[in-house]
Amino acid sequence: MQFTPQQYRVPDIPMQPFIDADEIWDYLNSTVSSPGKVQQVIDKSLAKNRLNLEETAILINATDGESVRLIKEGAKALKTEVYGNRIVLFAPLYVGNKCTNDCAYCGFRVSNSEQVRKTLSREELVKEIEALEESGQKRLILVFGEHAEYNPGFIAETVKTAYSVKKGQGEIRRVNINAAPLDVEGFRIVKEAGIGTYQVFQETYHREAYKTYHIRGKKSDYDHRLTSLDRAQEAGLDDVGIGALIGLYDWRFEVMGLVRHTNHLEACYNVGPHTISFPRIKDASMLRMGSHYFASDEEFARLVAILRLAVPYTGMILTAREPAALRNELIQYGVSQIDGGTKIELGSYISQQKNLDLNRSQFRINDDRSLNEVIDELLQQGMLPSFCTACYRLGRTGEHFMEFSVPGFIKRFCTPNAILTLAEYLTDYAPVATAEKGWKVIEKNMAGLNEKMRNEVGEKINRIKQGERDLYR
Ligand code: SAM
Ligand code: SF4
Repeated sequence: MQFTPQQYRVPDIPMQPFIDADEIWDYLNSTVSSPGKVQQVIDKSLAKNRLNLEETAILINATDGESVRLIKEGAKALKTEVYGNRIVLFAPLYVGNKCTNDCAYCGFRVSNSEQVRKTLSREELVKEIEALEESGQKRLILVFGEHAEYNPGFIAETVKTAYSVKKGQGEIRRVNINAAPLDVEGFRIVKEAGIGTYQVFQETYHREAYKTYHIRGKKSDYDHRLTSLDRAQEAGLDDVGIGALIGLYDWRFEVMGLVRHTNHLEACYNVGPHTISFPRIKDASMLRMGSHYFASDEEFARLVAILRLAVPYTGMILTAREPAALRNELIQYGVSQIDGGTKIELGSYISQQKNLDLNRSQFRINDDRSLNEVIDELLQQGMLPSFCTACYRLGRTGEHFMEFSVPGFIKRFCTPNAILTLAEYLTDYAPVATAEKGWKVIEKNMAGLNEKMRNEVGEKINRIKQGERDLYR
């Protein structure tokens, strides 16, 4: 795919910073919105074009009731068209919480003496992964603090362990990473271990605000963090995830920053980010920061819908930081991936205990439903839960991974693979009541496939029922 280059004040040069705060504020302050203009921008987005900063600012500045309704409806329509009714499921696995940084918002920060420090031993790691597999998980994101111990070699070993553990019918088929930014060689090492997406969140795109939250440690270097995913690309790791921690600075600026970051990766590497995350700050052990920039639920819903429209082809992740009811609502506006059965206390997947102790976790989560409870609710809403990992395993990533650029991609690949991975889950892990709902949803989705595909998927489902696993196309 070719992207239309944008002319911005700071040109896009690989490995060079690209955010100009004044330019972003100029767009936000000078762009005037109206329902008519909003509709024009939405039309561009519905034609599956990524928006530029000016168009994104038009959506951000649209605060009247009619415009907000148009934006939410537009996001819903785009989501249905680009992603269908699939929701991809994953679980985070915290590997180690030692950290040499002092991020003001994080329970793991070095100055928090209340935090119980721990790195999972290999044995503990295996047990955690077995417990995750026994609940039906297939996709993990491994999370690390920033510490010399968690060097690229260590991360790569952890990834290999995750792939090697098999419990019953269970296996992990995709391991993503959320860890400190690496140098080019480091990214090469973790890529060779077979990782999926490498996520690095900028936290805030506003340089001056960034300084106030990151006073000490390696993470205090704004430019090093901003260019980290350029280094990943230079290392051949083209599957990257960006994010902003909402609540550190004005959310409107962060949305512009995320879009600008997307432009930059497209301009320099001809591939945008695979995913965008927009965590909101939650309570954490010894959290000491003001709430001035916190976004309300309504602002957050707008933010999700605007991002969906601004970057039509990028996966959007909403985690268990948010409560179930809000997640159920926001899924409609464009979220494509959620975590389920989440436990963030180190070593807690093997226990029955829910997430309780803030001094053993990074922050407080607000959705501690089990994976099956999440799946059951998705099914009730007519969604199609998916554990699909086919694209990345068939090399359909990066530049080649633009779902909508190939007409009919979803019908040809995503829906069939979602159905097949759900069929595995229903066969291996679901209680009877969930399985009943699940097979009905499968039947309904099969009806939307053409006859040839329906027959192929039907034949594969029979093979799953007879014990074969990991069938995809
Ligand atoms: N240590 C690595 C780093 O900083 O890049 C890994 C990231 S951290 C374990 C995962 C993410 O959690 C952070 O990038 C940040 O956006 C988010 N986070 C930190 N504190 C949080 C809080 N109190 N509430 C919600 N999210 C938080
Ligand atoms: Fe460490 Fe990451 Fe937490 Fe900052 S956000 S204190 S780097 S774990």
